Amino acid sequence: MHEHDMVIKNGSVVFPYVGVQKTDIGIKNGKISAIGADIAADSAKQVLDATDRYVFPGAVDSHFHVGIYRPLAEDAVSESTSAASGGVTTILSYFRTGQDYLNKVGPFKEILPELLEISEKSFLTDFGYHIACMTDGHLEEIEWLVTQGGVSTLKYYMFYKLLTLAGATPEAKNYLMIDNPVDFGYLYRYMQEVARVNRLYRQYGTISLSVHCENPEVIQATQAAVKANPSGVPMKDYSNARPPWQEELAINEVAIMAKYADCPINLLHLSSQKAVEAGTDVTERYPQVSFLMEGTLHHLGLSNDMDLDQTAKVNPPIRSGADVEFLWQALMDNRLKTVVSDHACPPLKRKDGDLWTCMPGFGGTSLMFPVLITEGYHKRGMPLHRIAEVNSANPARYHNLYPKKGAVMVGSDADFAIVDIDAEKQITLESLYTAQEFSPELGMKYKGWPDITVLRGQIIFKNGQIVGKPGNGQFIKRPVKLHYT
Ligand SMILES: [Zn+2]
Repeated sequence: MHEHDMVIKNGSVVFPYVGVQKTDIGIKNGKISAIGADIAADSAKQVLDATDRYVFPGAVDSHFHVGIYRPLAEDAVSESTSAASGGVTTILSYFRTGQDYLNKVGPFKEILPELLEISEKSFLTDFGYHIACMTDGHLEEIEWLVTQGGVSTLKYYMFYKLLTLAGATPEAKNYLMIDNPVDFGYLYRYMQEVARVNRLYRQYGTISLSVHCENPEVIQATQAAVKANPSGVPMKDYSNARPPWQEELAINEVAIMAKYADCPINLLHLSSQKAVEAGTDVTERYPQVSFLMEGTLHHLGLSNDMDLDQTAKVNPPIRSGADVEFLWQALMDNRLKTVVSDHACPPLKRKDGDLWTCMPGFGGTSLMFPVLITEGYHKRGMPLHRIAEVNSANPARYHNLYPKKGAVMVGSDADFAIVDIDAEKQITLESLYTAQEFSPELGMKYKGWPDITVLRGQIIFKNGQIVGKPGNGQFIKRPVKLHYT
């Protein structure tokens, strides 16, 4: 009988909020069972030698879209594989009713079990869902989602309101398969209900609403102006069509409503200096409201000063090099709290044709460590333990997974990314382990690739080989303090 199932020996362990320490880690029954200077190799069934490697807590990629453009089961298998290759051990994906995703409407009490049944057979990594309420009936289910469903974060998509207003075309209305408006009146009632449930359950973790902050009415005007007079550089045109100031406007609209509704808010994928300044401003102005400011890998890693084609179209758009520098400063001085991929993979044929109608979004989850280590640690001196904060501990805390996830502590899930911070690779499609047929990062060189990914004590990726199987991943009910203690 071994004291540990596995011991990770001789690695430099990256402790969020603390620093890097050379130490060994013991694992038993999927959880961290010991942390100490010299855990005997013969005390464990299996030994992983991490000499010259950094042992990070497994990344929590808290913004992801599985099953939006391809069948959910297929997409969950291929894209959680991509995540596993990148040292991501937990995915929090978005879900709503309507077209794309599962193409159905109805109560979440019926749809969530179906979603989880498909997901439990498909994911290689652990997973959870953020849910977008689209009807009044859904608002009445929020308390059930938290206490029974294991979903503690909700979402509002600001640009869907245009699809539901009086002048919307029948196709637009069909897309969401609802006949009620999801306008700002709906958003206000949505915030009030999230706030009510948060007050009931906040001892277990903050129940929050995530908002994509772009103002759709403004974009109609600014996009028409750019379309009439394009520069011909697609990613600059796309950025000008959705200028940073309309992010600033949207953030202020949401923040004012959140103040009156008393609702915790996650400001998603802040792309620009103006967006970060607006988020900082409302955080200071309304200290009674909890705001999370989220950054993404692609807004940190790409700029529209680079030679990018329209496959890099994403909402909000890729911004200027000056904006990218500002985002790095905001990340290093702890204004941006989390870094996520916003992984969403349209088929290449839906990226073709007209810039204005082709699909937005692309994948990036497997670059979680390479972007942060190359652009953050190597280029800008971001400490490694801060990287573990923004890609693991902070997303786990803000989304109610901590300390089951995001912590290197005895009793936490034994999820690790064992990373060679100096290994350099040039990006090919094969190196991303994705089903996506393109990548804006192809040909770029990054350092800091994971060699080994461990999920609850099981190796799921090792030395370029995917070892995990679909179905290895578990649904993690949130708040974990409500559901697991
Ligand atoms: Zn997204």
